[in-house]
Amino acid sequence: MIKHSITLPTNQSGYWFVVNKGRLFLTDKGLVPQGKLADLAIVAEPEQICWLGQYQQQPCYLLVDHDQITDDSCWHSARSLLSQDEQLFQLAARALQVSLFLQTHRFCGQCGSAMHLVNWELAALCNKCGHRCYPRIAPCVLVGITRPGQILLARSSRHKPGFFSILAGFVESAETLEQAAVREVKEEVGVDIKNLSYVGSQPWPFPHSLMTGFTADYVRGSIVCQPNEIAEAAWFDLNDLPEVPPAETLSGRIIRQLQQK
Ligand SMILES: [Zn+2]
Repeated sequence: MIKHSITLPTNQSGYWFVVNKGRLFLTDKGLVPQGKLADLAIVAEPEQICWLGQYQQQPCYLLVDHDQITDDSCWHSARSLLSQDEQLFQLAARALQVSLFLQTHRFCGQCGSAMHLVNWELAALCNKCGHRCYPRIAPCVLVGITRPGQILLARSSRHKPGFFSILAGFVESAETLEQAAVREVKEEVGVDIKNLSYVGSQPWPFPHSLMTGFTADYVRGSIVCQPNEIAEAAWFDLNDLPEVPPAETLSGRIIRQLQQK
């Protein structure tokens, strides 16, 4: 659970996840600042501070700064931590998602009054109508589809030419993960799948997704790309793949797992 602190623990040594508009403050060596806040060259004016957890026996804090960007080169995507350390990335993911929650729940979506943070759980409560909000998490399914010796990969219209991945899509209201996987695959490339098998999950703070991963077997259908989302898709030999996501990402892990099957 996240603890809220009202005083800035400037003399407390720890790791400082300073967030501004979805980006993370990193040192010139690309590291999360560590030490006493008073001794660090963190120039952000903190609006809110939260205890996030522990890393290497040290406390980790989120320090939210919504407004001030002093030196643009210090602010990074959390993606740069993904290759450093999984636990560090997870703490950064939490920092980014909590920061977004604090930023977007200052006022009640139901009556427009000011909200305040509940002190025993991470929630925002409306002073006037009692509306309570929790941080939003958007579940997303990733599906690695194979037929003998081949995998179906697609290039999203957001990605550069030559970069392919497995299919992905958001879960809709009142839908199971498995239904979302079948529907997304049919919508995006027009093929039917079976034998869905769960692989794992990964928090993905861009801005608040939870990736869930599956493998599946191809059943029938020719590839027909959904024009708004998929630029191109094709069957690739499992031992001759184009550029795919790195192994630290869940999609990269699924692709490598299918190659070893
Ligand atoms: Zn309200």
